[in-house]
Amino acid sequence: MTSVDATQDCIFCKIVAGQLPADVVATSERSLAFRDIDPQAPVHVLVVPREHHGDVSVLAAADPALLADMVALADQVAGELADGQYRLIFNSGPRAGQSVFHVHGHVISGAQLGWSPA
Ligand code: C5P
Repeated sequence: MTSVDATQDCIFCKIVAGQLPADVVATSERSLAFRDIDPQAPVHVLVVPREHHGDVSVLAAADPALLADMVALADQVAGELADGQYRLIFNSGPRAGQSVFHVHGHVISGAQLGWSPA
């Protein structure tokens, strides 16, 4: 789904548009990074494209350059807010834990991370 199809109910589209508040930590021309409201680590930032795409699978097929822009911004954020070591997570689909259907990468950093995704 592209920006022209974005539903008016998309909270991340509203954050991108400035209609909902967010703690923005970095931006690029095509993407935005803001702190997660329910952080799971000392650094927990969401990176979202300004255009609406439902999940990473859709985005990878539609616009791989935009996905690369998101990854570059995630890397920048981890370097600026932590030590540059981080986990980047895309939950894709409800069974993977996706709850907001505007693609976003979780940048998790600032601590020694465990590994128990299931
Ligand atoms: O991967 P998933 O779709 O579950 O992640 C959605 C994330 O968006 C959650 O971590 C939630 O805390 C975050 N969120 C947010 N600000 C909102 C709504 C949700 O940071 N206004």
